[in-house]
Amino acid sequence: MRAFVLTRYGGPDAAEFRDIRVPEPRAGQVRIRVRAAGLNPVDFKLREGKLKPITRLSMPVVLGSEVAGVVDALGPGVSHFEIGDEVFARVTKDELGAFAESVCVHEELVALKPKSTDFPSAAAIPLAALTALQVLRDELSVSKGQRVFIPGGAGGVGTFAIQLAKHFGASVATTASPRGRALVERMGADVVVDYTTTRFVNELSDYDSAFDLVGGETLAGCFDVVRRGGRVVSIAGMPEPTTATKDLGRGAGLAALFWLASFTIRLRAARKGVSYRYLFMHPSGDDLRKLAALVDSKSLEVVVDRVFPFAELPRAFAYLEEGRAKGKVVVEMK
Ligand code: NDP
Repeated sequence: MRAFVLTRYGGPDAAEFRDIRVPEPRAGQVRIRVRAAGLNPVDFKLREGKLKPITRLSMPVVLGSEVAGVVDALGPGVSHFEIGDEVFARVTKDELGAFAESVCVHEELVALKPKSTDFPSAAAIPLAALTALQVLRDELSVSKGQRVFIPGGAGGVGTFAIQLAKHFGASVATTASPRGRALVERMGADVVVDYTTTRFVNELSDYDSAFDLVGGETLAGCFDVVRRGGRVVSIAGMPEPTTATKDLGRGAGLAALFWLASFTIRLRAARKGVSYRYLFMHPSGDDLRKLAALVDSKSLEVVVDRVFPFAELPRAFAYLEEGRAKGKVVVEMK
C-alpha cells in the first residue's frame, strides 16, 4: 500500500511516499481502509523531532494522527465492530499510521463515524474535537453562565472549542485576525478581539477560565484575563510536572524537565492566584461517540478549510504549517 513515511527527524523532505506492506490487525484491533485523514500541528512537530522527550517514534514510521474510513479486517477478540462499518478514530501517539491506505487501530479508540458527514469531515473531528471536549468538560468543568476565554479560535481546535463551550452554556471570548472574525462569530463567539490590532489583556477581565490554543505571550496574557481562583489550561504552552505523570504516565525524569521548563509560567499563575495546567488529549472511542452524536444532532459543525488529494500530502503539510488554517485541513483517498 501507499504510505507517507517518516524516515528521520527534519523538515518537509524527512517524510516521503513509500510502498509498504498492508498491516495485519493484532488482538483487539480493527483494520481501517482509509478514506480520509486529518492533519494537525502535532504531525509536523513530530516530524521535526520537537516532541522527542514525549513520544519516541521508531523509524521508519507512517505519519498521520486521525482517520475516517471503512473497517476491512478484524483482529482476534474484536467485539464492537464488523467488516463494512464506517468509522473514525484518533490513532495512538506512538504508532500513528493514518497517512496510508490502511491503518490498524485498537477498537477502544474507534467509533462509528457521524451519519451526517462525509469521510473528509469525519476525519477532521478526532484529534481537535477530543482535545476541545476533554479540556472544557474534564479540566475546566465549563457550565451554564460561566465566562470562558479561548484565544486562537479560528483554527482546528478553536472552531470546535468555541462551539462546545457554547453548547455547555458558557459565554465565550476569543481572539482572531480579520481573516477569522466571520468564522469565530459563526461558531458562536460572544466577544472577538482582533489580535492584530488590539491587546486582549486591555479588553477582557474576570473570566472564569481560559483555554489557550496559542502559547507564548498569549498564554501569559491569560493569567491577566482570568479572575483569582479561576483556571487556565493550555495545549500549546509549556507542559508542567503533573502532565508527565497524569497524561503521559511517565516518571520523575520527565516531570523534572517539565518543572524547569514551566517554572516562569507557574510562577505567574501562582502570583495571580490562578491554577494552571497543560493538557495532552487522549484518544477515546467513547468520547468520539459523544462527538458524533453532537454532529448528527447539528449541535456541532465540522469546519473543513481545505481537502487535498492524498498524493498532495506535502502541499497539505505546507499549507497547515503556515498556521493560518480556518478550521481543519484534510487529505482524501481518491
Ligand atoms: P491551527 O493550525 O489549526 O491554528 C491555526 C489558527 O490559529 C489560524 O486560524 C490562525 O488565525 C490562528 N492564530 C495563529 N496565531 C494566532 C494568534 N497569535 N492569536 C490568535 N489566533 C492565532 O492549530 P490547531 O487549532 O490545530 O492547534 C492549536 C495548537 O494546539 C497547536 O500548537 C497544536 O500543536 C496544539 N495542540 C495540542 C494538543 C494537545 O493535546 N496538547 C492537541 C491539539 C492541538 P489567523 O490566520 O487569523 O491568524
